[in-house]
This record gives sequence, C-alpha cells and structure tokens, in this order.
Amino acid sequence: MRAAALEALLTEKGLVSPEFIDSIVAAYVNDIGPMNGAKVVARAWVDREYRQRLLADGTAAIAELGFGGPEGEHMVVVENTPEVHNVVVCTLCSCYPWPVLGLPPNWYKSPPYRARMVREPRNVLAEMGLDLPESVRIQVWDSSAEIRYLVLPERPRGTDGMSQEELAALVTRDAMIGVARP
Ligand code: FE
Repeated sequence: MRAAALEALLTEKGLVSPEFIDSIVAAYVNDIGPMNGAKVVARAWVDREYRQRLLADGTAAIAELGFGGPEGEHMVVVENTPEVHNVVVCTLCSCYPWPVLGLPPNWYKSPPYRARMVREPRNVLAEMGLDLPESVRIQVWDSSAEIRYLVLPERPRGTDGMSQEELAALVTRDAMIGVARP
C-alpha cells in the first residue's frame, strides 16, 4: 500500500509517468530474471578460469556475459564448498541483485526472513527445506547500500556429461540466494 501511495504521489506531481514504472517492472518480470544468474553459475561450473574471474571480480565477470545495470553495479560472488554454505539477506530492506536474479521474491522482503536469517540461519534454512549437516558452516551475507551478493552453488554430482545449457537449467533462483541447493 505504501508503494502504491508513493507511486500515485510521484505520478500526480509529474515526477514519473505510470508507463515508466510499468516498463521497468515489465522488463524485470519478463526479460530479466534468474536465468541470467543461472547462465553465470553454469559457465563457472564448466570454465575454471571464468570461475576464478567471477570470484575475484563479480561485476566484471558477470558483465562478460552481458549482464549488469541497476542493483548490480557492485557484485560479489560467494562460493559454496563442502565446508561452507553461503546465504544472502538484506536486513535493512530488500537489496537484491536485479541483473542476475530479477525481482526479489516476497519472502526475501519479509521482516521475519530478514531478522531471523542473521540470528538463526540454520533453523530458517531448515524451515525452507534445506537441512544442512552440523559440519557445514553457514556464512550469512548482509547486503549493504552498494554491494549485491550472488551465491555460486556447488555443482551437483552426476552432472559430468552435461552441457552448459543443461547445467543452467538445474540452477534455481533460491540456490543463488542460498536457501536451496541445485
Ligand atoms: Fe536493502
């Protein structure tokens, strides 16, 4: 309701047109979504050097595949390993890497997720269907005003013969936020 009220006010004052807002929403809903991120992950799974570039400078490596723009100017990619599982949150609001994941799901913006993921990540992940062994350390990344995070999940076993396109189809939005595994 607050967002709708703000949009109405901005429109009324002539600061934005409704078409402008609709076109941005449509672009992220229809054209820019988690498949961009999935392509980045699949490439990192098959190309060792790309993976190194991605972890060293996420923004530049993601731009190599043609993705970038608002809410993705300072990308940091964090890699899951058998020992460490990464998960992303924005405790302050709802910061999210739009160019690679599209628009955030509602639960990502909800106060319980934002408050609890930093306090009891293991419980929240279990409630979301991801039971991690006690031996796996959970690293929670809280988005700042500038930095947006993308989780690079582990490549699933038994996928050796798969093409980059087939691998990309295994990568879900939730796996790249860190609340699921591919
Ligand atoms: Fe935020």
